[in-house]
Amino acid sequence: MLDKAPLPHGMDLAHENFAVSGPDLILGGVSVRAVAEEFGTPAFIYDGGVMRRHYRALAETLSGFAAVHYSVKANPLREIIALFLAEGAGVEIASVGEYRAARAAGARPEQILFAGPGKRQRELEEVIGEGIGEIHLESFEEAERVDRIGEALGKTIKVGLRINPVPSAQAGAMRMGGKPTAFGFCEEDLAETIARIGGHAHVDLVGIHVYGGSQILDAQGLIDQWRHAIGIAAETARLLGRPLETIDLGGGLGIPYYAGEKSFDLATLKAGLPDLAALLAADPLLADARVVVEPGRFIAGPGGIYVAEINAVKNARGTRFAVTDGGMHHHLAASGNLGQIIKRNYPILAPARMNDAAVVATTVVGPLCTPLDTLGRDVMLPELGAGELVAVLQSGAYGPTASPGNFLSHPPAVEVLVEDGRAHLLER
Ligand SMILES: *Cc1c(COP(=O)(O)O)cnc(C)c1O
Repeated sequence: MLDKAPLPHGMDLAHENFAVSGPDLILGGVSVRAVAEEFGTPAFIYDGGVMRRHYRALAETLSGFAAVHYSVKANPLREIIALFLAEGAGVEIASVGEYRAARAAGARPEQILFAGPGKRQRELEEVIGEGIGEIHLESFEEAERVDRIGEALGKTIKVGLRINPVPSAQAGAMRMGGKPTAFGFCEEDLAETIARIGGHAHVDLVGIHVYGGSQILDAQGLIDQWRHAIGIAAETARLLGRPLETIDLGGGLGIPYYAGEKSFDLATLKAGLPDLAALLAADPLLADARVVVEPGRFIAGPGGIYVAEINAVKNARGTRFAVTDGGMHHHLAASGNLGQIIKRNYPILAPARMNDAAVVATTVVGPLCTPLDTLGRDVMLPELGAGELVAVLQSGAYGPTASPGNFLSHPPAVEVLVEDGRAHLLER
């Protein structure tokens, strides 16, 4: 069923996160129109101030309970990583490429946690050689590789076990745990896993990591997942017979994309934390552990928009199409092809026509020769023509690097950071 209603949440988000002046949507003190004129389209525009604001709101909610590590895969641009580091975050990475990006952004080795189900020998050699805070093991082969590299270098490497929780522990939209997956070790096999990994002389098992899934909007559901993860931590420490240093509760905090979705409620999260803190404090093997949360989407997503220029408008059998210079090759998630089952529209608006009523149902498509390249179906917009702009909000996370950029050989989108009235191009 198509959603023919206007997207009030798009306008709400535009006002909540950014500013509007006359006809113009303003990010970081600069109009989207001016950025598009100066740097061209298609463009991802990131408002550094909005990213900081979301980071601070979360860090403040978690203060005294958990540290925040930015999950680099959400947006691996060096300056975005550097922005979160400057705010006090650590980082979570899942490849040696992300390790290099984090180091280039200024991360110290001990601030970096390394997850991922298929870490290769060369990746492990590089990060162990250069230094790494903790490696989150996801297979026995990895444990053996880390042990051998540690032996060769005369180092003992701190590791955590990534645990895939039992299905009953799950809540949230895009689930990573519960089902059979390649991520981590099954909770059911905890004792056997610890016994096998504990036998490695150069592997120091100090923590656990439980990442339950992405795009969770239900704060109470997340609290329940975290409580379950603390139970896994307690059992791990008991089996090891010594205190844990790290309890990584994963990321997964969601942001609203679709009409009717509500923002993740940080107040509900905050209200649930004293109980969890009491659980930790009551267990001498967990009381001194460092708790970590590793969000990507929640802190990077709301600050970014994707801007494309309309190239042609046509009516085909009653549907009005705006064909733009941007599409799924830059923004797969907005096209609905990154994990959604039913295509629903991201918030889309006309960033240089903000005071014109959204009166025309317009299907916004990209230039690729496939019907998959649809940014929004029947989006209510002002009557737009060629040369005008459309913007997809909530696009700061899982944009270009989560999209098939080579498909049809169009140029990449430019990426621009705006803050305090200044805009500059970002280098990948
Ligand atoms: C992707 C990922 C994250 C970040 O997920 P978000 O939903 O963006 O918060 C955190 N940890 C791990 C291990 C991941 O794979």
